[in-house]
Amino acid sequence: MKQEQNRGKRCHCIVCGAELGTKPLLEMAHMPASAQKIPLTKEEAENEAVDLRLFQCPGCGLVQFDCEPVDYYRDVIRSGGYSTTMVELRTRQYRHLIEKYHLEGKKFLEAGCGRGEFLKVLTSFPVKAYGIEHKGDLVEIARKDGLNVIRDFTERVDHVIGTEGPYDVFLSFNFLEHQPQPGVMLDCISNNLTEDGMGLITVPSFEYILDNDGYYELIRDHITYYTFETLRYLLESHGFQVLEEEMVNRDTLAVIVRKTGAKKAGQKPAAKKAVEIVYGKADVSGLEKNRDKLDHELENLSDSLKKENKTMAVWGASHQGFTLTATTHLKDSVSYIIDSAPFKQGRFAPGSGLPIVPPDYVTDHMVDAILIVAPGYTEEIAGNIRKWWGEQIRILTLRSEKVEELS
Ligand SMILES: [Zn+2]
Repeated sequence: MKQEQNRGKRCHCIVCGAELGTKPLLEMAHMPASAQKIPLTKEEAENEAVDLRLFQCPGCGLVQFDCEPVDYYRDVIRSGGYSTTMVELRTRQYRHLIEKYHLEGKKFLEAGCGRGEFLKVLTSFPVKAYGIEHKGDLVEIARKDGLNVIRDFTERVDHVIGTEGPYDVFLSFNFLEHQPQPGVMLDCISNNLTEDGMGLITVPSFEYILDNDGYYELIRDHITYYTFETLRYLLESHGFQVLEEEMVNRDTLAVIVRKTGAKKAGQKPAAKKAVEIVYGKADVSGLEKNRDKLDHELENLSDSLKKENKTMAVWGASHQGFTLTATTHLKDSVSYIIDSAPFKQGRFAPGSGLPIVPPDYVTDHMVDAILIVAPGYTEEIAGNIRKWWGEQIRILTLRSEKVEELS
């Protein structure tokens, strides 16, 4: 029996509790059940598929899946690591926050700090930097790196975080969108903050996904899809005032908040009226069109390869690669998925069950074409394919809704 039949559905909004209703914005069949849990067997991988339904809450407007969260939602797994762009962004954000609000010497807490990638950047500022992380091996890595990190999670509202509280400022980087109880997380943090404590929060932007028809950005790990409006509603409902809002890296919402304590006085902001939500309803037609176009393109590609008796591989065991191979005609025509990350190799892609292999596997298992699905690394990978295997392999990539041939 497929696992998806055992997974419960949620009927109420994660943030305001309103009933989600019966009409999803979007239904997505046979999606990878997880972006991070990569099974060890083909059979297990084939069972790691779920049908996802994306809803918009009629109470607060928040877009969300109605499924259970992935079981590792408390862990902060950042595959990007230390990129120069991210270090520069955090440095700019920290400097602005500390200088503008005079936070020198204050205690900062990063709630969900992973291996401490961003906490490390904070240590070059004149503040006290603390972090909590749920995943034990990441805590160890952060501590070995000299960071002040403990294993902890904001499980309950009355949970006391560490022994250094109350903290003056909290940081939360791309973590809220994984949370099935973002309100509990915020209340817990609030209770561990000083009276006029502050916060800096980032989440992926849903508007960015809509503007770019980014169907393949939707993943089960991200159970909610915030806009400035719905994020503000969540924060105000939990006693935070939004002082600044900014779009960063083109695809991420960043907000600075201050604790007001309004929650204690019972001043929950009124949920929006249904009529406003109807006018503000998220338009996902572009996403659907993009998905259909791409599926059609990939069907044509699969057919033409099959006719010529040719083989193909995908490069990139990322969530986009998993979704594409699980949901389109690719699964019938692809032999394997190539990825350079050792911890993914020897495993199988959730949804499609395709094996994930290291680049040197190609030498003894040559294919006629490689489709690169690795946004941001396409040129580098294409260069390596030419360098290692010459001109014999056709190189293809995905740009928006089209398959393109690279020469
Ligand atoms: Zn809601």
